[in-house]
Amino acid sequence: MNTNFDVIVIGGGVVGSAAARELSRYNLRVAVLEKELDVCNGVSGHNTGLLHSGILNEGNTLRMECCLEGNAEFDQVARELDVPFKRCGKLIVGFGEEERARLETLYQRGIESGIPGLQMIDAARVQELEPNAHADFALYVPSAGILDPFLYTIALAENAVMNGARYYFNQEVTGIERADGLYRITTVHGVFTARWVVNCAGLYAFRIAEMLGFPGYQPKRVKGQYAILDKKTGKYLGMPLYPAPNEYGACDVHVTPTVDGNVLVGPTIEQIGDGIDYSVTQDMLQVLVRQGGKMFDYAKRDYYIRNYAGVFPTILDPRTGKDLDYTIETKPEAPNAVNTVGLNSPGLTCALPIARRIVKKIQETEPLIPKETFRPTRKGIVRFAEQTKETQDALIRSNPDYGEIFCRCECVTRAEIKEAVHNILGVETVSGIKYRTRATMGRCQGGYCETRITAAIQEELGRKKEEVLLNQIGAYMFTGDVK
Ligand SMILES: Cc1cc2nc3c(=O)[nH]c(=O)nc-3n(C[C@H](O)[C@H](O)[C@H](O)COP(=O)(O)OP(=O)(O)OC[C@H]3O[C@@H](n4cnc5c(N)ncnc54)[C@H](O)[C@@H]3O)c2cc1C
Repeated sequence: MNTNFDVIVIGGGVVGSAAARELSRYNLRVAVLEKELDVCNGVSGHNTGLLHSGILNEGNTLRMECCLEGNAEFDQVARELDVPFKRCGKLIVGFGEEERARLETLYQRGIESGIPGLQMIDAARVQELEPNAHADFALYVPSAGILDPFLYTIALAENAVMNGARYYFNQEVTGIERADGLYRITTVHGVFTARWVVNCAGLYAFRIAEMLGFPGYQPKRVKGQYAILDKKTGKYLGMPLYPAPNEYGACDVHVTPTVDGNVLVGPTIEQIGDGIDYSVTQDMLQVLVRQGGKMFDYAKRDYYIRNYAGVFPTILDPRTGKDLDYTIETKPEAPNAVNTVGLNSPGLTCALPIARRIVKKIQETEPLIPKETFRPTRKGIVRFAEQTKETQDALIRSNPDYGEIFCRCECVTRAEIKEAVHNILGVETVSGIKYRTRATMGRCQGGYCETRITAAIQEELGRKKEEVLLNQIGAYMFTGDVK
């Protein structure tokens, strides 16, 4: 295994994968070290999937700058990387005079920040745009959109690999030393060396920062729970509905359609202790249904299929006591290290702008030579379920594996499962197949297809059934025979 690189990126979330992709534009040997078995297992896989407009961010911050840039370019990015995306807009809805005043303030701030197309609209216009929304009035934000955060991160990582970057999974970084002009990076399974290190470790970025010589960052752990609603509800919601900001300036539970036709209700906002806690509770499910139901009729328990939680990578700014702005930094005492911390929401929207700023930090020290062979495009797996009848027939004629349905709820075929199993990143988990194909994401949540996916991994990769993992080390699908 080659362990010597020009640049090592720590963390394969959306930001680390965007950084790897942007670095792969240059003649550099680039590697990503990721502690989990796939990309997008950290914050990037536990969020709302919204392309933010910036309306909820304060102006004159790096976060705002990156958000406007990331939002404006995303139609092209989604085309280049073949990522499902809809620029559907969003409504921040309000009731009563106090909320009207808060929305007016947001509107003014948004105009000053240069957010395009903002409109204060009345109840009749809300009904025209979203017949199932409840509101007395709303702030309409047409530049917002929805995307698939898993496929976006996978696409960035795949495009980086197509352009020469390498991904190493199950490689938690435990120590970093510098000697003879090189970084020696110790992981749980080996040692890597690099001229440059980029910290993109999300919730653990403060720890890597300390290892690199950027000490003192203090995380603040805030968690949000969500409920996922059945696809039956998707047809009743065209765009996200946010409530007007509360007295602290934050928007409580919102309802958001996904690009695949589900509806997400959440997140709640809960302060937690120092650890990362992804647990979900019955109590919070009730809160979600109650708060979501105020804006959207179909936010009901009857449609609930699953819940999940995310934890914000917030860092406290000791000077202000508020959340730290996006920080992308270098310093002479830590040569050839680019440190990032505080990449809080909307980091999905901002991933590529952040990545370009990481590259710029390196360019401040050394010139980078563009790679002539760099290709910005990548193709995703063709979704059989989304094709016309004619195309489906043609696909089956060209490859009979399209004629066998593996996941009944989401209509995913054997051909798609096989393509996912042979993914360019070398991911071998059942969840890896899920996020690449949507198999197991339907109403039955894998009751029918999970064992079939396990069998496909066995067959295609020559693994024993006891070797196949759900999503992490120790999470075996099977531990032996019953009979
Ligand atoms: C509830 C919630 C909702 C959100 N909604 C949105 C939204 O709708 N739109 C939006 O734009 N943004 C949203 N965000 C923000 C967005 O998800 C994050 O800003 C973004 O995903 C951060 O990406 P990242 O790559 O920095 O972090 P991560 O995705 O956490 O990636 C960091 C990676 O580093 C790895 N790692 C950590 N430590 C080590 C180590 N020691 N060695 C090796 N690897 C390591 C982790 O396993 C992880 O894969 C939301 C966030 C939350 C919590």
